[in-house]
Parts: sequence; C-alpha cells; structure tokens
Amino acid sequence: MAEAPWDVIIVGQGLAGTTLAWHLREAGQRVLVIDACEPVTSSKIAAGLITPITGQRLVLSWRYDEFLPAARKFYTSIEKQTEQKFFHDRISLRLFKSEKERQNWTGRCSKPDYQSHLAIPQPIPLLDPSLGDVSGGGFAMHAAQLDVAAYLEASRSALEWEPMSLDWRRDLSFNAEEVSVCGQRTRRLISCEGYAATQNPYFSWVPFIAAKGDILTVRFHNPVPPQCVHRGIWIAPTADPEVFRIGSTYDWENLDQEPSASARTEIERKLKEFFHVPYTVLDHQAAVRPIITESKALIGLHPEQERLGYFNGLGSKGSLHAPWYAQCFTDFLVHQTPLPEDLDIRKHF
Ligand SMILES: Cc1cc2nc3c(=O)[nH]c(=O)nc-3n(C[C@H](O)[C@H](O)[C@H](O)COP(=O)(O)OP(=O)(O)OC[C@H]3O[C@@H](n4cnc5c(N)ncnc54)[C@H](O)[C@@H]3O)c2cc1C
Repeated sequence: MAEAPWDVIIVGQGLAGTTLAWHLREAGQRVLVIDACEPVTSSKIAAGLITPITGQRLVLSWRYDEFLPAARKFYTSIEKQTEQKFFHDRISLRLFKSEKERQNWTGRCSKPDYQSHLAIPQPIPLLDPSLGDVSGGGFAMHAAQLDVAAYLEASRSALEWEPMSLDWRRDLSFNAEEVSVCGQRTRRLISCEGYAATQNPYFSWVPFIAAKGDILTVRFHNPVPPQCVHRGIWIAPTADPEVFRIGSTYDWENLDQEPSASARTEIERKLKEFFHVPYTVLDHQAAVRPIITESKALIGLHPEQERLGYFNGLGSKGSLHAPWYAQCFTDFLVHQTPLPEDLDIRKHF
C-alpha cells in the first residue's frame, strides 16, 4: 500500500493542537488537524493572559524566563506568516487585596529574578483614582496577552484542517505502520482534546482534574487604559478599547459549559470591591480548563500503542506554555530528542 498521506493527524484545534500543528509543519511534517468546531471551548473564551508573578503567594510562574521567549518567538513568527496581530505586550497591575499578600511581596520584591519583571519606573499612582482603589498597594509588571480566538482563527486559514468530531471507539483502525481515521491515513494520531480527553478510552488512566471557569465580557462606560489589572479577579483588554474581559472563577465540581449565576455574582462582587467604572455586561461564558495533577501538561506517546500521542493539561497557562511544550514534543517526534521526564505521559501509566 502507498505511504500514509499524513505524518500526523491532530485531534483538536485549541491552543495545544494549533500550536503543535505549526511546530510539526515547520519541522517538515505533513499535518492534518480535525476539530469538532464547538462554539465555546476553553481556548476560544480564554483571556490569553501571560503574567510573570501570579497567585496569592505572588510567585514567579514556573519556568517563566524559559517559556516567555519561546512563546514570543513563536507567536510573532505566526503573526508574520498569517499577517495578523494577536500577541500583545502589556503592563499588568497587581493590586494587593490583603496584608498577607503585601507581606508576601515584601519578602520577594528585591530578588533579581522578580525585579527583572517589574515596570520601570513604577506608575504613580498605580491606577488613576477615578478608576479604582489602590490604597492597599501593589506593583506594575511587564506581561503579555495572546488574543487566543484571533490566533486560532488565523491558524485555521493557514493549516490543513477538517471539521470532524472523532469517536475514538468507532472511527479508528490500526496496522503496524499507520492509523486510519474515517478514511484518512496517518502515521500518528495525537489527542489535543482539552478536557474532552477524559473521555478518550486510550488515555483514561491519565490523572486528570479540571476546573470550570466563568468569564464576563463588559463594556466600560468611561475610558480605561489597555492594561491588565489583577486583584482577586483580573480585568483584561480586548481589540475594542471599550470592551474588557473579566474573570475568572474556579469550580472543581460542576464540569459543564453552562455560565453560572453564582460565578457571575462572584466576579462582579470582586470587581466592585475596588473598581469604580460603571459597565454593562455584554456576554457571560464558561468552559472547562484541562488540568492534570501537578498543573503541568503531559506529552508523549501511548505506552502500548505508539501510533497514538497526547498533548493535554495546559491548565490556566496555555498561552504561555503551549509553544514550549509543542517544541519539546516536535523534537521528540521528529528528531527523537528525549522528552523531559516529568512531562512524559508514560510516567503515569
Ligand atoms: C474562563 C477561562 C479563562 C482562561 N484564561 C486564560 C488566560 O488568561 N491565559 C491562559 O494562558 N489560559 C487561560 N485559560 C486556559 C486556557 O484556555 C487553556 O489552557 C487552553 O485553552 C487549553 O487548550 P487545549 O487546546 O488543551 O483545550 P481546548 O481549548 O479545550 O481545545 C480542545 C479542542 O479539541 C476539540 N475536540 C475535543 N475532542 C474532540 C474530538 N474527539 N474530535 C474533534 N475535536 C475534538 C474541541 O472542540 C476543542 O476545539 C482560560 C480558561 C478559561 C476556561
């Protein structure tokens, strides 16, 4: 039989699948992406924030100084190829909401690896008092933001892809050399399905946890600068200078895509605690973040069926992490470079 026409079919055109497709294509692989084309997915509604210092403990994000250059290089190269703009440098304000947060920061802020992310000079005041209350203190840092929906859209025009919802129990057949998927033949089939990977019968042993997140889209009635603000929730700019995204909640139990009234109340309460600008809510969406134990994505091949691959679990930091992971996985698939042990899916089998 003639050689399979595809080297890789990727299942899922979210952040993981799209980014892996670009990397594999760049390495000379023939790649087809299939996607169920759901109107709401974790990637389609994500705010795309890339923030160095995060969480209540105000710690530097894992491997940030390695991941950010990889992300910047990758997204700007795709911007050039697609002639679209979706990667933006931002100033991000972190406002303290408790004395404990302020103390956490006091202990860290003079360390060189933290200092290098701070905006110089720090804006005074951090935020115009007519916009919000900054009396608890805070700091401004260099950050970035990926317009995820625009990145996915631009990529769809450039990559080979097909609308299809793959049923792993029904649509697959194997032989020693290839996998056949609804008549399409490929040397490898890779799951980049996000939370839906929990339903994948070949990878049901992966220790998946997940968290639903709600996000609001609002129009502010007074001008607000295009920067990100974090204080219990975050406020993130969009391409429309009047429209911002506000999020997000973590619900570990109700893993559905239904926007929840209590989540909206929580987001609006946290916003009104410090932000004074009147607004109208334009939209409210929810999706499930794919999170794997230890909050690190896993990549690699199925331990018993090496025609099948896996790249899932990008969690809350998909925009930052996806390009670095995709490069590792590509180097492994194309050049046989060993995977970092802690990220190899086989350690969980
Ligand atoms: C409210 C919210 C806010 C967020 N904000 C940020 C943020 O500010 N910064 C950040 O970095 N991250 C953020 N995230 C997290 C980020 O969205 C995720 O890390 C990322 O979207 C995960 O991408 P993915 O490709 O793994 O999964 P998904 O986005 O879920 O993509 C999976 C794709 O696969 C398709 N699919 C699944 N199964 C099949 C099948 N069998 N056949 C065909 N297609 C299939 C789905 O339709 C989907 O298109 C946020 C998430 C949420 C929910």
